Amino acid sequence: MENFDLERSPDGDLLRVAKPGPDLLRYPLYNKGTGFTHAERRKLGIEGLLPAEYNDIDTQAERIFKSIFYNRDDVGRNIGLAMLQDRNEVLFYKLLSQHIEEVMPIVYTPTVGDPLVDKNLLRKIRFAASLPNIHTQFLFTNGILLDRFGYDEILTSGITRLALSTYVGTRDGYKRFYGTDKYDKVVANLLGICRRNRELGSPVNITLHLRVSRDEGQWRETDTFKALAELIGEENIDFLTSYDAWSGMIGGDDVPEGCSIVEPIPIEEKQKVPCFELYRRLHVLSDGNVGACVCMDMEGEINVGNVNEQSLLEIWRGEKLKNYRREWVKGNLPQVCQKCTRYTPLTEFIEESRTRILTDYIGRSFPRLFKWVLEFQARRRAENLDSF
Ligand code: SF4
Repeated sequence: MENFDLERSPDGDLLRVAKPGPDLLRYPLYNKGTGFTHAERRKLGIEGLLPAEYNDIDTQAERIFKSIFYNRDDVGRNIGLAMLQDRNEVLFYKLLSQHIEEVMPIVYTPTVGDPLVDKNLLRKIRFAASLPNIHTQFLFTNGILLDRFGYDEILTSGITRLALSTYVGTRDGYKRFYGTDKYDKVVANLLGICRRNRELGSPVNITLHLRVSRDEGQWRETDTFKALAELIGEENIDFLTSYDAWSGMIGGDDVPEGCSIVEPIPIEEKQKVPCFELYRRLHVLSDGNVGACVCMDMEGEINVGNVNEQSLLEIWRGEKLKNYRREWVKGNLPQVCQKCTRYTPLTEFIEESRTRILTDYIGRSFPRLFKWVLEFQARRRAENLDSF
C-alpha cells in the first residue's frame, strides 16, 4: 500500500490512501491510532479495532511521552520509542519535536551501541555461563573498548565467540568509516586480544569482519591484516562489501566505494518458504519481550511472548510463534520481513547447515562431550599455529 494522494486546502490536508481497512493500521505512515475520528473509523472500516476514545495528536503525544519516560531505563525508553515509530510515525516525530531534549539522546547512540559500553556486561556473561543449559555466548564489538575490562577478563568470562567488526587499513580510512580518530587504539586492541587468546590456548573463537572500500586485495597486504591472519587464521576473516538496505534507509550513495546494496527479494518469492530465523532461536529484550529474529528485528516487531509471563520453552512451543510461521505462507509477512535482505528460506538453511545443526543438537544433548570436542579443536588449532 504505497500509493496515496495528498490534497492541500485552507481547511487542512486530506490524505487519500489506496486501501482502507485493517491494513491501514499496519502502516506507520498512515496509522493515526486513537487519532482517527469516529467518522473516519466508520468510513475506513476500522471500527472496533482501536480503543473507543478519540484523542487529538497533542493528547496522544503527551500520553505516550509519559508512558515511555515512566520507564527509568534508557534502553527500555529506546525500545518504547522504536516501537512507536514502527506503529505511528507521525506521532513519533510529533513527540520528537515536542520533547527534543529528552528524546534525542535516547533515540541515538550511546543508548544503543557497543555492548562493551555496559559496565555490567561481564557480570551478565558470567552469570549466563553459570547456567546449566547455556553453552555458547557471542559477543559482537567494534573493538574500541576491548581494553576496558582487560583482555583476560573478557576471554575468560564465558564467551565462546568474539566477533570483531571494524576496519583495518589506514588511519584516514578508519576516520572516513567511523568519523573518529581511534584507529591506533582499535588496532592495538585487536592484536592484543588475539595474541592473548592464542597464549591462553584459544578459549574463544575470534572472527574478524572487515568493512572495506575498493579492492579487498590491497588490505590483505597490510602488516596489520597479516599479523591478525596469523593469530586467528585467515579463514576467520571476511570482508563486508555488500550492505543491507535496512528497509530502504540505506541507499547506494551511503555505502563505501566499490560496495553494493543487497536488493530485497519480492514477497511472492519469500512467502513460498518461511525465513529460517523463525525456526532458529529466540532473543530477549530488556523489558522481557521475546522476539524470533535477532538478526534484523532490532525493535521486536516479531513478538512471540514475554519472559515475565512464560518460560522460554513455553514461548518457543507457543501459538504466537507458530502463528507467524502459518501466516507467512499465506503472504502475511511481518513488516520488518517484507523488505529484509537477510531472508533465507528454511529449506536452504537446512540444506547448507546439516553438520552444524547436528553438532548443535549433540552439544545440547551431550554438553560434556561437546565441551571436550571444542577444547580438542582449540588445542589442535593452537598446535598448528605454533608450528606455523
Ligand atoms: S526475513 Fe529478515 S527480518 Fe524477517 S525473520 Fe528473516 S532475517 Fe528476520
